[in-house]
Amino acid sequence: MRRAQGAYRHRGDRRMTVRWHETALLDPGALHDYEHAILAQASTGDVALGFARLGPCALLGAFDDPDRSLRRSFVDGHLPIVRRRTGGGSLYVDPGTTLMVAAIPRALAPRHTLTEIIVMVGELIAETFRHQDIPATFTAPNDITDDGRKRGSVFAVLVDDRILIEAVLLFAVDIESLMKTIKLPLEKLSAAGLLAAAQRFAPIGGTEPSAVAARLYPAIVAALATRLTMDVALQAPPATRIGPPPAACQGAPRPDVSAFLKTPGGVLYLDIRLDGARVRAARIVGGVQCARATDLEHLADALTGVRLDELEAAILAAAPDDTLGFSRGDLGYLARLCVERHVLGERLGIPGDAERVTLYSPRRDQGFADLLADVGALLLPYCAKPAWCKWRHRDGCPECGQCAVGEAYRLGRERGLPVTTITRYEHLHMVLAQLRAAGIRTFLGVCCTEFFLKRDYAFIEAGLGALFIDIGGDTCYTLRAEESAYRGQFTAEATLDPRLLDRVLRLGDSR
Ligand code: SF4
Ligand code: SF4
Repeated sequence: MRRAQGAYRHRGDRRMTVRWHETALLDPGALHDYEHAILAQASTGDVALGFARLGPCALLGAFDDPDRSLRRSFVDGHLPIVRRRTGGGSLYVDPGTTLMVAAIPRALAPRHTLTEIIVMVGELIAETFRHQDIPATFTAPNDITDDGRKRGSVFAVLVDDRILIEAVLLFAVDIESLMKTIKLPLEKLSAAGLLAAAQRFAPIGGTEPSAVAARLYPAIVAALATRLTMDVALQAPPATRIGPPPAACQGAPRPDVSAFLKTPGGVLYLDIRLDGARVRAARIVGGVQCARATDLEHLADALTGVRLDELEAAILAAAPDDTLGFSRGDLGYLARLCVERHVLGERLGIPGDAERVTLYSPRRDQGFADLLADVGALLLPYCAKPAWCKWRHRDGCPECGQCAVGEAYRLGRERGLPVTTITRYEHLHMVLAQLRAAGIRTFLGVCCTEFFLKRDYAFIEAGLGALFIDIGGDTCYTLRAEESAYRGQFTAEATLDPRLLDRVLRLGDSR
């Protein structure tokens, strides 16, 4: 979207214009209609732009799965769930957040990729912030930050001959509501967690958000108009209707096999329902961004009828080429993880059990069989020990026979594996470094999936291969347990399945 030299842009005999408005408060249910109105305004060749403030809601990314990204136990009955047209992560928004919605004719940036569009808009907004004495930089893939703390995010999608851009500008952040709404914030809902989460945001509103907005909105519009060499016109916001909640928020049928992969662009999920060894139906979702709204749906359709052993090739052949922060190769690897899980399920004898086992291969070159044959240590979480056990917050277990952790210790020790109870995050770091120093390349860990997704960098840093068995029961991240954690009374106990651990270890024995 380079600036045209010389004269203003014209369409016929009139100058092209950035038409913009402010919307005091938009009912979340009217967002779809609002996006439609903005897109319609841009169909004449002008740019349409609005700054909307939404009532409190869970704002889903276009491709996101509400069951995976939202805490349904809190959201359902408390907050409307609204799906925006752009992809990216799901968010909690309220009137402290401004949603900038803009539609730009594609002809103004005909060859820009999704990434280039987002960089262009993100840098323009960050530069405008700086001109208003608000420190900010654009941080790939799509955030506006100050010293690593988030001030906003940018999302985009192509809609026919227009580009729809949506930017979240954080004037004020209700940390507690955000953490109750979104399933995978980095911190826990404890007093310390809230404090830590607050450190990750740098709201731009200060003590006078209205005054900041009054300066910032026209400055962003002016910067965009200057970049596009267009006129500016302030106009009334469009009238909107409140629509029904999106059907996609009702959840999806349970898959026969699934896999997930964390990428810089967000977590990707592949769910497959099988018909024998072939794909009956596939679903690809996640808090990710693709250039077109139908990209992941078309990709999933292309997998129907494909044999599992051809899944990776099929996904590589049909993968969209314009995405943000994830690649065709990531999608291919996601397919391979899914097939690996299916094979593991067959070897375990109960396919559903494999859904609770996840592999991590630092170079993506090891499957379950390779990792199982190489397991050199067993790591267990303290939360699976009974709250009354004096060993709960200590490493070790005398195998008193009163809980499944003792059984896990026995299974590990009888194979000569060093067994460690991880008591806190820093302890995990230390243990991983020790394993590495001892020449151990792979470990078997028991933890919740949320922990694996949030703290994956600990494993990436350690460079060790790993197999993870998911725990059940109350976890730190289930809302009820977190609320008691907030009061300093966390006594929840996660459930370790020694039967599954035994069967997984036996598969390794047989190699
Ligand atoms: S088996 Fe170990 S962890 Fe479980 S109650 Fe006994 S001592 Fe505690
Ligand atoms: S619930 Fe998850 S994050 Fe919490 S202690 Fe257990 S494994 Fe760790």
